[in-house]
Amino acid sequence: MRKIIHADMDAFYASVEQRDNPELRGKPVIVAWKCTRSVVCAASYEARAFGVRSAMPAMRAERLCPTAIFIAPDFPRYREVSRGVREIFRRHTDLIEPVSLDEAYLDVTENKTGLPTATLVARTIREQIRQELNLTASAGVAPNKFLAKLASDRRKPDGLFVIQPDEVDAFLLPLPVGRLPGVGKVTEEKLAKLGIRTGKELRALELAVLEHEFGCYGVRLYELARGIDPRRTRADDPAPCGEALVSLAQRTPSGANCGSQTEDQRVQDPDAKPYAELSSIVLRGTDSDSAEATRARRSRVATALSARRRGAEQLSRTGKGHGTASAFRMKADQSAAAALAGCCFIISSIPFFISLVVGSALCVATIQL
Ligand SMILES: [Mg+2]
Repeated sequence: MRKIIHADMDAFYASVEQRDNPELRGKPVIVAWKCTRSVVCAASYEARAFGVRSAMPAMRAERLCPTAIFIAPDFPRYREVSRGVREIFRRHTDLIEPVSLDEAYLDVTENKTGLPTATLVARTIREQIRQELNLTASAGVAPNKFLAKLASDRRKPDGLFVIQPDEVDAFLLPLPVGRLPGVGKVTEEKLAKLGIRTGKELRALELAVLEHEFGCYGVRLYELARGIDPRRTRADDPAPCGEALVSLAQRTPSGANCGSQTEDQRVQDPDAKPYAELSSIVLRGTDSDSAEATRARRSRVATALSARRRGAEQLSRTGKGHGTASAFRMKADQSAAAALAGCCFIISSIPFFISLVVGSALCVATIQL
């Protein structure tokens, strides 16, 4: 049984701003560029009380909280603070999987400090972050990553929640399915039509039904309903492309590329994008990337794009691609035209041959007479 901690800094960028500027403390702070296409990068808990949330359009946030103080994001500074948080994590384990600048999974099944329980490790980490960085973090402790993530959300802000292996069912069964990772509004509505609203009801569904309704994600739902998550904590693994793209939309810099709802929605389906556009977005990386992570992502994305291009070329060569298909259509059209011309020529020649035969026959008859 593994012991996983999900550590999540509370309103990270806004908290850093409030920590470094005492005048901002206790006030609604929104970290975002104040322009029409910008989105909220972070909101202090004072701003959240007005309904302001991360990734919300900045203009909407301003309407919700007119007294909010807008601060332009300072990512180099947040990166520096994030490095400090990472250093604290490293005292306890080397198995750290960063999710973004303010979130990480830690596998503390075997921790470096010899603390007897994962709960004690999480408590120590939170205390060290508070004392050394003057910031707060929430943490979830559980036997796997998805449960640890749900646990860290349970006591936010500045909280610790532990799901022991024998408490998984008590936690999961009453949980609304919308809280499960990957269950968005569409999936939630589809589940509701099947009469499924809680973890308990989801668990009652057979795998075949889930697969029929949700394809391969049905298998994941089947596992989630049983508290199963086989994903390992991969040290310094860059965020998957899909996550990176969404993360990018939420944290785009100022100027023409200010994050917008439209872009946010668009990038959630990377497969729908043309290669050039996809690669230009992904290769830029995100502010949460370390240099190594960015290099790793570039390499992975380049490989994936190259594989997709090769696939497309292969299809094209075997005559299944769109370009080749139209070429085939053109050749077929040309052949048909040639055949038609040949037929016309033969048909138009028939009277000539008939007159030739009749003429010859008359000549022979005349000679005989
Ligand atoms: Mg956070």
